[in-house]
Amino acid sequence: MSILCKIPRNYTSCSVSLLNYLSADIKKAHLSSSSEVPFSVDDALNLESLLTEDEILLKNSFRSYCQQKLMPRIMEANRKEVFDKSIMVEMGKLGALGCNLNGYGCIGASTTAYGLLAREVERIDSAYRSAFSVQSSLVMYPIHTYGSEDQKKKYLQSLAAGTTIGCFGLTEPNFGSDAGGMQTNSKLAEKDKGHILNGTKTWITNAPIADIFIVWARSLDDKRVRGFILERGMEGLSTTKISGKFSLRASDTGMIHMDNVFVPETHVLPNALGMSAPFSCLTSARLGIAWGAIGAAEFCFETARRYAMDRPQFKKPLAANQLIQKKLADMLTEISLALISCLHVSRLKDKNLLNSQMVSMLKRNSCGKALDIARASRDILGANGISDEYNVIRHVMNLEAVNTYEGTHDIHALILGRAITGLNAF
Ligand SMILES: Cc1cc2nc3c(=O)[nH]c(=O)nc-3n(C[C@H](O)[C@H](O)[C@H](O)COP(=O)(O)OP(=O)(O)OC[C@H]3O[C@@H](n4cnc5c(N)ncnc54)[C@H](O)[C@@H]3O)c2cc1C
Repeated sequence: MSILCKIPRNYTSCSVSLLNYLSADIKKAHLSSSSEVPFSVDDALNLESLLTEDEILLKNSFRSYCQQKLMPRIMEANRKEVFDKSIMVEMGKLGALGCNLNGYGCIGASTTAYGLLAREVERIDSAYRSAFSVQSSLVMYPIHTYGSEDQKKKYLQSLAAGTTIGCFGLTEPNFGSDAGGMQTNSKLAEKDKGHILNGTKTWITNAPIADIFIVWARSLDDKRVRGFILERGMEGLSTTKISGKFSLRASDTGMIHMDNVFVPETHVLPNALGMSAPFSCLTSARLGIAWGAIGAAEFCFETARRYAMDRPQFKKPLAANQLIQKKLADMLTEISLALISCLHVSRLKDKNLLNSQMVSMLKRNSCGKALDIARASRDILGANGISDEYNVIRHVMNLEAVNTYEGTHDIHALILGRAITGLNAF
């Protein structure tokens, strides 16, 4: 029996008129196809059309700075494992540091603008984006959000200017993903008004060059986690550099050692109590990373595309092969979808509609996809792909760390898994 026999008469006639309507619509689409906007390989889903004038202006001027001032420095910096501190002052002069915060020398831009800057700087190198993120989201943000008025006045202006450099100490030798198990501890000082800190933090971006340290420690008195602002020069506080990294080589990473460091009460973040405080800083930073990693992916994609167009093998450009075109199509699809989702979640944040699981989804997606794209780009470049003169291998190596820090790829899967099932698997 035909399926049409089961459909009531009036429905069939209705379907016919719907078909007529659809075919007219398809006809219209065909007629207008000659006037459709051209495809843009630089912005396939027209992200730009969704940005404000201010955001476009900030993005473009920061892109010029990154391309003109940072790009020429990165190869040597990466080879020699050095971070030039003056980069912080340069970013500060452009208003980039803590740009999404209000007051105290910050320009009060949107979360999207902050993300766009992260994307531009990571197009150059993840090490420079790490410096930008740590200063903005992990040092200025906690002081702005959890600090006293005196602390904000004392630190934020010079952090925004880049004349003071900060770092964020959460990870410890024995507690990485399981940061809440931290051994670094604080104890109320018996004589003076303040706390005594003991412990070691490791893998801390900018620790060797930092002037101030946001350190998270568990109190031996009430067992709660608190945030402290330590200053270089405090007795018992020292840092060491971790050398020999094959990822983020142009970033200074190190350890913070605290041996009975006396921290006055005025250096305790008064509104940060419990692990939710450092986690909120990480949520802010992770959204920037989600934008930034895609900047690195875009650089790799563009390099691979140009290379494939220019290099002939078997009497035709590499790009004329279906295998290469599929790789490029996959890359641009992931880049475009990731950028649109970063924009969407950034807009939600500015409307107070954000949750941390959204950010886990984006951080995980962007980092994992960017790493895949960087590896595929390196492959398209053949032997040249492993030379740092083509920059792609540097991004591959960087993205390994970006995929690990601020919650590893798998830890974000577990965070999402917990939200999906209600069951904690870690
Ligand atoms: C270059 C760099 C810069 C950094 N900067 C900072 C900084 O500025 N401040 C800071 O505080 N930290 C920083 N970190 C530390 C970073 O956040 C940690 O490395 C990260 O949280 C992972 O911790 P871990 O290295 O101890 O790995 P571990 O926690 O030991 O994890 C090792 C592996 O086991 C997996 N794993 C862990 N637990 C589970 C589980 N329950 N189930 C399944 N798999 C699991 C992980 O996914 C990972 O693959 C930085 C790290 C790097 C590499």
